[in-house]
Amino acid sequence: MPRAYSITDHAYDCLVVGAGGSGLRAAVGMVEAGLRVACISKVYPTRSHTVAAQGGINAALANIVEDDWRFHMYDTVKGSDWLGDQDSIEYMTKNAPAAVYELEHYGVPFSRTPDGRIYQRAFGGQSIHYGKQQAYRTCAAADRTGHVLLHTLFQQALKHKVEFFNEYFALDLIMDEEGGCAGVIAMRIEDGSIHRFAAHLTCLATGGYGRLYFSCTSAHTCTGDGNAMVLRAGLPLQDMEFVQFHPSGIYGAGCLITEGARGEGGYLTNGLGERFMERYAPTAKDLASRDVVSRAMTIEINEGRGCGPNKDYIELHLEHLDPKVLKERLPGISETARIFAGVDVTRQPIPVVPTCHYNMGGIPTNWRAEVVRPKDGDPDATVPGLMAVGEAACASVHGANRLGGNSLTDLVVFGRSAAHRAAELVRPGSPARPLPKGAGEAALDRLDRIRHASGSLTVGAIRTNMQRTMQRHAAVFRDAPTLEAGCRKLEEIAASLRDLKVTDRSLVWNTDLIEALELDNLVMQAVATMHSAAFRTESRGAHAREDYPERDDVNWLKHTLCWVDERHRPRLDTRPVHLFTLSNEVEPVPPTKRIY
Ligand SMILES: Cc1cc2nc3c(=O)[nH]c(=O)nc-3n(C[C@H](O)[C@H](O)[C@H](O)COP(=O)(O)OP(=O)(O)OC[C@H]3O[C@@H](n4cnc5c(N)ncnc54)[C@H](O)[C@@H]3O)c2cc1C
Repeated sequence: MPRAYSITDHAYDCLVVGAGGSGLRAAVGMVEAGLRVACISKVYPTRSHTVAAQGGINAALANIVEDDWRFHMYDTVKGSDWLGDQDSIEYMTKNAPAAVYELEHYGVPFSRTPDGRIYQRAFGGQSIHYGKQQAYRTCAAADRTGHVLLHTLFQQALKHKVEFFNEYFALDLIMDEEGGCAGVIAMRIEDGSIHRFAAHLTCLATGGYGRLYFSCTSAHTCTGDGNAMVLRAGLPLQDMEFVQFHPSGIYGAGCLITEGARGEGGYLTNGLGERFMERYAPTAKDLASRDVVSRAMTIEINEGRGCGPNKDYIELHLEHLDPKVLKERLPGISETARIFAGVDVTRQPIPVVPTCHYNMGGIPTNWRAEVVRPKDGDPDATVPGLMAVGEAACASVHGANRLGGNSLTDLVVFGRSAAHRAAELVRPGSPARPLPKGAGEAALDRLDRIRHASGSLTVGAIRTNMQRTMQRHAAVFRDAPTLEAGCRKLEEIAASLRDLKVTDRSLVWNTDLIEALELDNLVMQAVATMHSAAFRTESRGAHAREDYPERDDVNWLKHTLCWVDERHRPRLDTRPVHLFTLSNEVEPVPPTKRIY
């Protein structure tokens, strides 16, 4: 079929898809290593979801109380409910202090202690001396840490001459005949022109897929496009059943109130005015791990002890805090609560509910950010030319549940690690990698199909149906009948894509088309999430099965892998968890019962 598109070819040493914290950190490091780097982003870099991160970034700096990266490692393994790969967790926690000091030197304006050191606050699931006492490990710039981090990294990227392709939408990976990645095909949103990027290394930094759910804290752009590109390339995603519900999304609006609010002394009450967390987590109380708090809140609401006329939310209290603390440490959420809940936090509690917040699962990688897929009996075999970092990746440092403040750490530590690995793998100035014959043809067929979709259902209609299905069938508590019904509903939703209607055929700023491409990507991940959840017959971290309430290390101390084919049929398998460390500086943390 003759194509309407003009096609431009580009060649770089490295290609980074995504300009959030992880993509920018990777790109800066790759340029520092002398490599020519292009960074593609569907939104202007400073609009990436990283900008919305509030609470902070974890590193054992010991600026408030004593600390040690081994305590951070222990907390992260326990937080992950032992599903995290301990070599990756060791690498992240050990390198976190250096990564944070580097951010400070790049220019991140952290809040300060009275003696001028980086301010650190308490966050959930953190301890010193292996669970004995609350830690203060989350480095913060008031409650706008992601904002300053992203802007600083963007300035560094500009200074380092990363070549940006802003408002370009990556459509698909270009794979070569040996199964390696040769680059990416993208569409410039402004004029619909097609751009093929050849690169020795492609690094996906496309973020999470929070928009799978009806109520979520993530930006509208969080549609997991990189994850879907990986699935279409015939590669699996890992641990997709593990979706984090944050305890404090504003009731009705979904906007986040940072865990830092509880870190600064806030607490939750039910409709009877009880501080119910004391019953569920006697030691850590309101600062237990997120999965624990979200489950407790859901039980309180389900058992009729919620707040308000419909008893369907929980209250978060900050009104007892010193107004100076609110002004200095939590200015952003005070404003958010006023705008989205109509609440003055100095006087009234904020109505909150558990809200979809983070995806622990994603593209499987090792601690060097190289994408992994089992091959010839090797569960850790890497895919040549392909890397993934940030929320899109599953390194896996968060396992079954991520600790607050550990995502920003993950972004910069593994962004940096990807750059180190790129410097080992690619020689600066080496001849361009040729694109395979017919590169990107399948992606253009898909683009044409979606652009000319002339059925009867709008993107919005199918998306709402999918989001409500995920919210109803794969939320905080799950069981076999609900999940199986969810799988069947998703079959219908996937089939309904054939009746999609894209109203705008234009190639100029066609946001209807972009949203249709994102929806197509989301549906693949919905299938992976629902089927992975039905597959795992145990409860671990954020995956709570009412029909299998216990963790089952004998059968399930392993990662889930899920492939989804072009007809939305899933295939499931598993891969061992790394229960070993990289160095002899620390012993692996053996699995025990998880109590806070
Ligand atoms: C409200 C909120 C608050 C949070 N607070 C914290 C916190 O305090 N501490 C913490 O540790 N974590 C926090 N998190 C989690 C953390 O912010 C995210 O996990 C992290 O910022 C994700 O960064 P990223 O680099 O992976 O991707 P993102 O910042 O999501 O960026 C994704 C990038 O990929 C690009 N992209 C995506 N698809 C395409 C495509 N098809 N073509 C081209 N480009 C594409 C986008 O343009 C964007 O540049 C928070 C999350 C939310 C939602």
